[in-house]
Amino acid sequence: DQAQTSTALRLEQTYGAKNYNPLPVVLVKGEGVWVWDEEGNRYLDMLSAYSALNQGHRHPKIIAALKDQADQITLTSRAFYNDKLGRMYERLAKLTGKPMILPMNTGAEAVETAIKAARRWAYDVKHVPADQAEIIVCEGNFHGRTTTIISFSSDAEYQRGFGPLTPGFRIVPYGDIAALRAAITPNTAAFLVEPIQGEAGIVLPPDGYLRAAHELCKQNNVLFIADEIQTGLGRTGKMFACEWEQVVPDVYIIGKALGGGVFPVSAVAADEEVLGVFEPGSHGSTFGGNPLGAAVAVAALDVLEDEDLVERSRTLGAAFLSRLRNVHSPVVKEVRGRGLFVGVELTTKARPYCERLKQEGLLCKETHDTTIRFAPPLVIREDELDWALARIERVLTEV
Ligand code: PLP
Repeated sequence: DQAQTSTALRLEQTYGAKNYNPLPVVLVKGEGVWVWDEEGNRYLDMLSAYSALNQGHRHPKIIAALKDQADQITLTSRAFYNDKLGRMYERLAKLTGKPMILPMNTGAEAVETAIKAARRWAYDVKHVPADQAEIIVCEGNFHGRTTTIISFSSDAEYQRGFGPLTPGFRIVPYGDIAALRAAITPNTAAFLVEPIQGEAGIVLPPDGYLRAAHELCKQNNVLFIADEIQTGLGRTGKMFACEWEQVVPDVYIIGKALGGGVFPVSAVAADEEVLGVFEPGSHGSTFGGNPLGAAVAVAALDVLEDEDLVERSRTLGAAFLSRLRNVHSPVVKEVRGRGLFVGVELTTKARPYCERLKQEGLLCKETHDTTIRFAPPLVIREDELDWALARIERVLTEV
């Protein structure tokens, strides 16, 4: 009821640090693409926890895996082997074509892992002089919130007051192959890139950019690291967004939907030459590789494959995108995306439109002020997308 809603909201607002500004809705239940608030109102989830819910809320097979594993053993630490981690490794190795996997929990930890691997690879394999390794990143990037990762953000708000920052990064404009070429030096260890920039507002690079960047990296003995944390596992209509340009990165970073919407699981996948730089003691995580997460991840990958979610994302996404492009609204500046990863950039602030959509029973979130991101669970049905489109159209065309 209303009183309960305000209690839950009030408690969060009273005791919580203010590093988020949530829409005023208190969710108490989720199933598939739908979520419910305390008053029993139902909403279509068009954010999917920033693409961590590709398989939908509480997918029965993933919840079953979670419960089964919870009845066996949940945490061993890496001081010992467990009977689930190797199975997750094998699945990820097959999925990525990479022979070596390093498990972590959150996306940011996996990005940190890739940075450490790239730097050590630069010294041990490429023979860059000590402490001179450089990593090239893109303007508008989002790779997480740790101190090192925000050090190479181009967003002042992500950095303000958090210095001193970690050196060793160069920022080039996203999509600009000449700028990337000019930034590469003999000390360049890696190029770290999102195949489509998510937090920046679903920004697609020009056609051919990823392929050209990958080629440039190969010519210069620079690792091409794809942050597929948000774009990977079907979100863009391919298993990995790099596939749109037939690019096989040297290093994959995966997270979010790998945990099937129930548990944080992330991983780095690469060749032995790269991940082989870690010897015992050089890197780790207490929870990374835990059997509960590994069992969930295997189930999450099973669901992606069994339910053909990559193909669903591709076909439903294409239809969704073309229908959105046909919405004639004075406030729409651009509609862009790939698969069920869609951004609608407005000529004005997006937040009021997200609040209106919420009233219509549709949850989504603005990113970078003027863009609404639409990224529903990939299990969404066509009629549910139609339902969403009718409401989006209504809200975008009302005066
Ligand atoms: N990399 C990308 C591309 C992301 O979109 C995100 C999260 O939005 C991250 C890294 C960070 O992941 P996490 O929030 O799990 O640390």
